[in-house]
This record gives sequence, structure tokens and C-alpha cells, in this order.
Amino acid sequence: MANRSKQVQENVAGDFFVDVTCIDCDTCRQIAPTVFGEGPNHAYVHHQPMTAVERRQALRALVCCPTGSIGTDGEERPVEVMGDFPLPIELPVYYCGFNSPRSYGGNSYFVQHPAGNWLIDSPKFLPRLVARLSELGGVDHIFLTHQDDVADASRYAERFGSTRYIHRAELSAQPEAEVVLEGDEPVPLGTDFLAIPTPGHTRGHCVLLVRNRFLFTGDHLAWDRHGNQLEAFHDYCWYSWEKQIESMQRLLAWTFEWILPGHGERVHLAATEMRHHLEKLVGRMSSLER
Ligand code: SF4
Repeated sequence: MANRSKQVQENVAGDFFVDVTCIDCDTCRQIAPTVFGEGPNHAYVHHQPMTAVERRQALRALVCCPTGSIGTDGEERPVEVMGDFPLPIELPVYYCGFNSPRSYGGNSYFVQHPAGNWLIDSPKFLPRLVARLSELGGVDHIFLTHQDDVADASRYAERFGSTRYIHRAELSAQPEAEVVLEGDEPVPLGTDFLAIPTPGHTRGHCVLLVRNRFLFTGDHLAWDRHGNQLEAFHDYCWYSWEKQIESMQRLLAWTFEWILPGHGERVHLAATEMRHHLEKLVGRMSSLER
């Protein structure tokens, strides 16, 4: 529960506020960009929600905040928006919400598929979300991009009898995973799904390409809303920047229109534009210290 007496000083006056427990994960700014802004190492309310749409977005951000750092003095009950999740992005892809503090507020996604539904990385294990995922057909597969974002994957796997996929180099984060990916070559995972190893951020980081349209990128690649360009996180590269550049370059072999990251902003671009941005990113990455 957010604490009004500990609110950050930048909040504008009104019923919504952010307190000092914020970890600056960016979740609220992605869900309610007109309401939450970017302060020094924390979010804050830069515009109180005025319309019904803005209020709903602000309440969604409140229930998804991994650290419970958003509060409101308003009369709505935040619990009423919990049923909005998972939120459709472009069907059959949904954003799960309920970002976990165990993945530092990483995003996770749900994909409906006739041959079995997929979870990509894991949200918090919450009964309301579990019930909604059940209504949508359950979770047959869980793809884990890397060790940082497994969150409650084991609880989802137990609840739904899911098959979990993770690279061997990340296995310590999910030792019970049913399928262990090996090496650096792409691995088809049934119709429409391709696991592509992208070592760099961590040794065994992998991305998941779905129908040559959706690329789930974990912590490998995201959209920079300030620079209007693709970005990779040099300061959060734990294994090898050189490998991460090579992994980024390899992605030029595929076509996709959506980037759906664990951390950072998602983006939808025409495939040719996406390729153009990816080529430019590889150039910028190469100029940074290795
Ligand atoms: S979602 Fe919560 S922790 Fe994340 S930036 Fe917003 S207030 Fe901070």
C-alpha cells in the first residue's frame, strides 16, 4: 500500500500519488503515459487523470505496480480493474500486467494459439489473473527469456501443467524446466514459434519470434521513447556487450513488426522500418565501449 505521507515531492496535487518506495521500473509510464512521468530515479504523477479513460489507466498502473508504490484517495476500488488483465495488445498477444518485484517489474505476455497457449516470462501469481488465463484456455507453455525474469513461473507451471523452456546457461533460475535449450542456434518450438539465442545481456538469453510478426525480447532489445529509436541497455549488460552486438546483428536475418520487451517500451513498426532501426542500433552499439 502506498503511503501518502511518504509521497515523492514531484507529484502534482490530486488524488493519485507515487511514494518513495518506487523502483523506477517504468510499468506505470507504459500503462498510463499521460498520468505518470519520469523523475530522478522514480516515477511521479505529472498530470492527474481527468477523463474516464485516464482514470482507468491510472488504476491499472496502480494494481500492476510491482512495489505497491502508487496510491489514490479517489473513490474507485482499484480491485475492479484487475479483471482487465491480461490486456490485449494485438490478438492473439496480450500483456499480462501484475509485474513482479522478483523480475524488477519486468513485463510478461500471453499468446493464445490453437496448439496451446504460451506465457512469455512471468507475472505475479495472482488468483484473479490465474482465473482469467484459465478462461482464455490456460497456459500450456512458458518461455523464459533469461534468468532475471522467471518470477512466479514455477507456480504457473504447477497450476497449469505447463512446459517451461529456458536456455541451459540460465537453468539455475528454473532448474525444474521441462525443456532446456542448448547452444546458440535457433530452435523451432512447434508451429509459429522460434527460440533465438541472443547471448549478451546474460549468457543464455533468448528471444522468441512468433509468426514472423511478434518478437519477445526480454532484456535484449526495447524501444527508446525519448530518442524514437530501438535501444539495448549497455549499462545493464551483465555478460558481454560484444556478444550482444553479434546477437543483435543476427536478428537482421528475420522479419518482425512488434518488439515486446521485458524491460522498456514495446513498439509496432512496419517490417522495413523495424529493419532500418535495427541496422542503426547495431551501428550505435558498435561505437560504445565493449
Ligand atoms: S510502476 Fe511502481 S515501481 Fe514502477 S515506476 Fe511506476 S510507481 Fe515506480
